[in-house]
Amino acid sequence: MNPSSDLYLKEMGLGPRWRLRTPVQVESAPVAVMNDVPERTVAVNAEAPTAAAEAQAIPPDSRRATIMGMDWPALDNDIRACSACPLSATRAQAVPGVGSERADWLFVGEAPGADEDAQGEPFVGQAGKLLDAMLAAIALKRGDNVYIANVLKCRPPGNRNPAAEEVLCCEPYLQRQIELLQPKLIVALGKFAAQTLLAQDTPIARLRGGVHRYQGIPLIVTYHPAYLLRTLPDKAKAWQDMCLAQRTLRAEGQAG
Ligand code: URA
Repeated sequence: MNPSSDLYLKEMGLGPRWRLRTPVQVESAPVAVMNDVPERTVAVNAEAPTAAAEAQAIPPDSRRATIMGMDWPALDNDIRACSACPLSATRAQAVPGVGSERADWLFVGEAPGADEDAQGEPFVGQAGKLLDAMLAAIALKRGDNVYIANVLKCRPPGNRNPAAEEVLCCEPYLQRQIELLQPKLIVALGKFAAQTLLAQDTPIARLRGGVHRYQGIPLIVTYHPAYLLRTLPDKAKAWQDMCLAQRTLRAEGQAG
C-alpha cells in the first residue's frame, strides 16, 4: 500500500488502516457486456435556443460519425464549441476531461457542477476532493495514469439531474474519449455514469460488486463521491469497490 494511504483513508473516514473484520464476499460477477452503444435519435427541444436548434438540425448519425473520427485535439475543440443541446446556453464553459491520454484508469462521473463549470476541470469541488482521496487510497493520482471525465460535458443548471436528451447528445463524446484512451479499466462513479455506460437502468446497489464490460474493457461501479459525502456509512463499500477495481486490473495481467 502507498505510504500516504493511511492519510487518505482517514480523509475518507475509513482510517487509520481500515480493515474488514470478516472477509468481503464479492458477489459473483454478473458480467454485462456492452459491445455497441445503440444508435439513438436525439430528441429536439422545441424551446432550445437557436444555436442549439441549428446544431440539432445535423442528423444525429452524421454528428456521431464525425465525432467518432476525431483525434484528441479535435474532440476537445468540438466539446468546447458544442451547442448540440440547450446546456450550451447556460454553461460558463464545457468540461471535456482531465488526465493522461495514455491512462490505464478512466473514472467517469455525471456532469460538471458549479466549481467545474467555473474552472473547466472535472471534480474540483468537495466531491473532487473525496475522489482524489479515493484515488490516493489505491496509490493513484489525478493526471498520473488516470483520466477523469463526465457523461455530460456541460453543467445542468442548478445541479439538476441530466435529462435523457442531454445524455443522448453528449454520449458520443464519452464514447470517443474511451475509444481514443483505450483504458485498461473504467470506474463508473454513481448511477448516471453506470447506467449510461452499461445501457441499463439496474439500481446501483445491484451493479456494484461485479465486474462489467464496456466494449471488452472491465468496468467497476461505485458510489458517486457527492453521494458518499452525504452517506458516510457507504464509504466503506466504496473502499471495497476501489479494491475490487485494483484487483481486477491486476488480474487482467496489467500493472495497477
Ligand atoms: N460531479 C460529477 O459527476 N462530476 C464532476 O465533475 C463534479 C461533480
